[in-house]
Amino acid sequence: MSDVETILASGMTTPSRRGWKGTIAVDMDDVLCQTNATIVHMHNELFDTQPPLTLADFKNYLYWMNRGWGTPEETVGMVAKLYQGGLYMRAPPVEGAKEGLKRLKDLGYNLIIITARSENQRTGTEDWIAEYLPDIFDEIHFTGAFQHLEPTREEKEGHVARKAVVSHHKRSKAEIIHTTSSLFLIDDSSENAYDVSTSTYPHEGPTKVLLFGDYPWNAIVHDPSKKSPIEGMTYHEKQEKGLLDEYEKLREQRIKDGWLPPGVERVGDWGKVVEWVERFDHARQE
Ligand SMILES: [Mg+2]
Repeated sequence: MSDVETILASGMTTPSRRGWKGTIAVDMDDVLCQTNATIVHMHNELFDTQPPLTLADFKNYLYWMNRGWGTPEETVGMVAKLYQGGLYMRAPPVEGAKEGLKRLKDLGYNLIIITARSENQRTGTEDWIAEYLPDIFDEIHFTGAFQHLEPTREEKEGHVARKAVVSHHKRSKAEIIHTTSSLFLIDDSSENAYDVSTSTYPHEGPTKVLLFGDYPWNAIVHDPSKKSPIEGMTYHEKQEKGLLDEYEKLREQRIKDGWLPPGVERVGDWGKVVEWVERFDHARQE
């Protein structure tokens, strides 16, 4: 069947075959590029944490909840140093990402990136995509989720009092999924998964998020109504209060419970993403 016939048969009027089935939103860090694994190496080189950091230390998506970091502000400063040290180009693609993305495109979906990185990381981000995953994405959205923690120019120069002057328009991933009419989000953050799955924006299907990867930082999706105060503490707070062991016990129990909010499904790797989207695609055509 030719492209035109395919389009006519489907009753769609969009002239190009590519993308007529809708848009899939994809997160960047640890879905497309191996950011945290690269951070482990660079962190040990740059900050000499003892004992050395491993990926298993990344028990939370927010680094300051984990060993080896500081307050949220200190952490953002440390991450900035990692980027200055070449993190952008040192992070290799996640295994199977390129082949998986190409398959989704061939099935007829548009692909966009929604990343928590901020606008000031745009050049490094675009360079990486041009190098490793060119000609795949239609749009990149920077939510700047941690931008409010970055020092302002004035602070960098020592004038801390101007902190309140800067206010960024922060957008949530749920908001961008809504404005781009994306079908669902592929993301490795359980926090993003929870936020998007519980957003009240209208949505086509029951699945809003594919929670990507078997990573220590997404082993638990928290139900905020059941969250213990320990789970909201930074690593240093837990350490100071002698709560590290109690936290570990709680963490193990939560992993065993395996709670997932409605609208979230786990996909271990890119092969599983492709299988899931092929099933989704097939079901939509019936
Ligand atoms: Mg991510």
